[in-house]
Amino acid sequence: MSTLEIKDLHVSIDTEQGEVEILKGVSLTIKSGETHAIMGPNGSGKSTLAQAIAGHPSYNVTSGEILLDGEDVLEMEVDERAQAGLFLAMQYPVEVPGVSMTNFLRTAKTALDGEAPSIRTWTKDVREAMNNLEMDPTFATRNVNEGFSGGEKKRAEILQLELFKPKFAILDETDSGLDIDALRVVSEGVNRAQENNDLGNLLITHYTRILRYIKPDFVHVFVDGKIVDSGGAELADRLEDEGYVNYEKTEATA
Ligand code: ADP
Ligand code: MG
Ligand code: MG
Repeated sequence: MSTLEIKDLHVSIDTEQGEVEILKGVSLTIKSGETHAIMGPNGSGKSTLAQAIAGHPSYNVTSGEILLDGEDVLEMEVDERAQAGLFLAMQYPVEVPGVSMTNFLRTAKTALDGEAPSIRTWTKDVREAMNNLEMDPTFATRNVNEGFSGGEKKRAEILQLELFKPKFAILDETDSGLDIDALRVVSEGVNRAQENNDLGNLLITHYTRILRYIKPDFVHVFVDGKIVDSGGAELADRLEDEGYVNYEKTEATA
């Protein structure tokens, strides 16, 4: 059982107008096997939260903590975060010309584990995972993300999730731009990682659609850089009906 703790996190970015605070005190605890959905309007800072956890250099953590089983994540380099068990899709290159998926996966897995995976089981694992994700076998020979469709990129992302076996995944708008078949396949992959590896999920989304396939244990409403409400899966249904307008009004009159 692992725990990812975010404590009173404040994050700023540098703009031409100076430093602007985007995250204004975010606290959240995720345990192995749990799915937490973060839902909120565009521009509320959801991706900023994901980038800060990933260690993107443009996002300055001005105060607060991120702890993985008590270890200080903010002190870790990006690759150390991955080795510690955080899966942050955005850390991987968008396109890697001349590097096949097979080679990329094997190299990344070796870097994550500190030793090369056994050739026999690895080849079988990759084939099985690709089969689960309804990916064409020729996909393995293609260069990373080169000419991949939106759906293929998401499948490639979930393929990594299945093979790398992280403790926690931060999935930022994994549902965006997916047709219903791709959404189902991708969601099933996330659910498998949860069942097989006790993955903890931070699922960031603007829409409730993906939550029909990946059942959240907790739903957090994110407005203006903060969690303003938390509840169970029923909260997502309410957001689908009512949107964020009630929360935004509260913010404006506060
Ligand atoms: P969300 O993912 O909820 O749509 P973001 O985290 O992407 O929100 O953005 C939150 C706010 O921070 C927005 O006003 C956005 O314009 C601003 N922002 C985020 N990243 C940057 C950046 N690198 N440079 C300038 N502004 C940024
Ligand atoms: Mg949960
Ligand atoms: Mg975003």
